[in-house]
Amino acid sequence: MKAETFLGLLVFLNLLLASVSSSSDFLEELSDASLLSSAAEAKQLVDAAYKRTRDRIKEQLQNDALTPVELLGYFKQPVAGTRAAVRAADYMETTLNLLKEKLQRAVRGDFNVTDVLTPAQLGMIFKVSGCDLQDQNINCEASLRYRTITGECNNRRNPSLGASNRALVRWLPAEYEDGFSVPHGWTEGKRFSGFPFPLVRKVSNEIVRFPPEQLRMDQQRALMFMQWGQFIDHDLDFSPDTPARVTFSGKVDCRTSCAKEHPCFPIKIPPNDPRIKNTRDCLPFFRSAPACTSGRAIRDQINALTSFLDGSMVYGSEVPLANKLRDWTNQLGLMAVNQNFTDRGKAFMPFNSMQKDPCLTVSKGAKIPCFLAGKLGAGAPEMQSERLHQLWLISLIA
Ligand code: CA
Repeated sequence: MKAETFLGLLVFLNLLLASVSSSSDFLEELSDASLLSSAAEAKQLVDAAYKRTRDRIKEQLQNDALTPVELLGYFKQPVAGTRAAVRAADYMETTLNLLKEKLQRAVRGDFNVTDVLTPAQLGMIFKVSGCDLQDQNINCEASLRYRTITGECNNRRNPSLGASNRALVRWLPAEYEDGFSVPHGWTEGKRFSGFPFPLVRKVSNEIVRFPPEQLRMDQQRALMFMQWGQFIDHDLDFSPDTPARVTFSGKVDCRTSCAKEHPCFPIKIPPNDPRIKNTRDCLPFFRSAPACTSGRAIRDQINALTSFLDGSMVYGSEVPLANKLRDWTNQLGLMAVNQNFTDRGKAFMPFNSMQKDPCLTVSKGAKIPCFLAGKLGAGAPEMQSERLHQLWLISLIA
């Protein structure tokens, strides 16, 4: 630690201890044993919330009771390596929140929990949460001729640059209400530069509201412009929702409650909303899943895909999925194709073999399973239409 940083920390701790009602309680909460017990408690809470969410989705699939909105949410759930990375980040953040709660009992006023932890203590939480597994040095094989599926080592000088399941890069510093994690607008009545934040629904209503006669066909761009943009977007970035649809305290279901409790971040209805009249109602909204961050632990969001323009939506961003997408019946190295159906001789994507397939529910009478694609959601029911067909044709051309 630099001398000035250390001195700054000492000054901060002294100031903090001056406002502490019982400094022995405070220091006890900062002992290694207490940190480890908070980490263990955080794991239990996060695991329980993930499990409750997963059980509920399974139950709804079982009963064919998934609504279209819930189905879209289902496809925003992180899977495989992304889920493991998000879980570690949730462990880390929940540990810090628990510690803050405990310390709050001994401290008057607001404070940032990361300011009272030493780098060694933050490092310990980083390690026990599993975040350090994502922070290990990557050794690139000099003989590698091709780009990797995960994007690792595409840049030899910075092997994790653009790799999947890493934090999205910030072009500007984060602006959180509390400086490191809580989004603006979370605490009602809190002002920013002297002004309260407007409700997000009010902002979107104002922006989107325009007379229908202003809707005109674009003379310069065809629908393919949007389709291609969407297709490219599925190559570059995907920020999944947090896997928990219930609060880590386990008391609130984000889909049915308007309580603002992490990770539920419901959207309030403004007065005079053109569509929803009940201002006590809300729209369920979930925060983007966090990524592991070391140091001051400012919340970052995870990118499940490689940020390179390398065909992630076709080939995948993780090795197990990439292998699943291949035709291993011969040595030709081709992609797997659908064994059941063709489009007048042209190949379709393979079906994703799932025990309970949500796409079967949505496609109703047609009973079309989900397709398997490089990006979850690219095979989602939202695209099981002409659009999917178009995308598949594009991917063949690409
Ligand atoms: Ca990519």
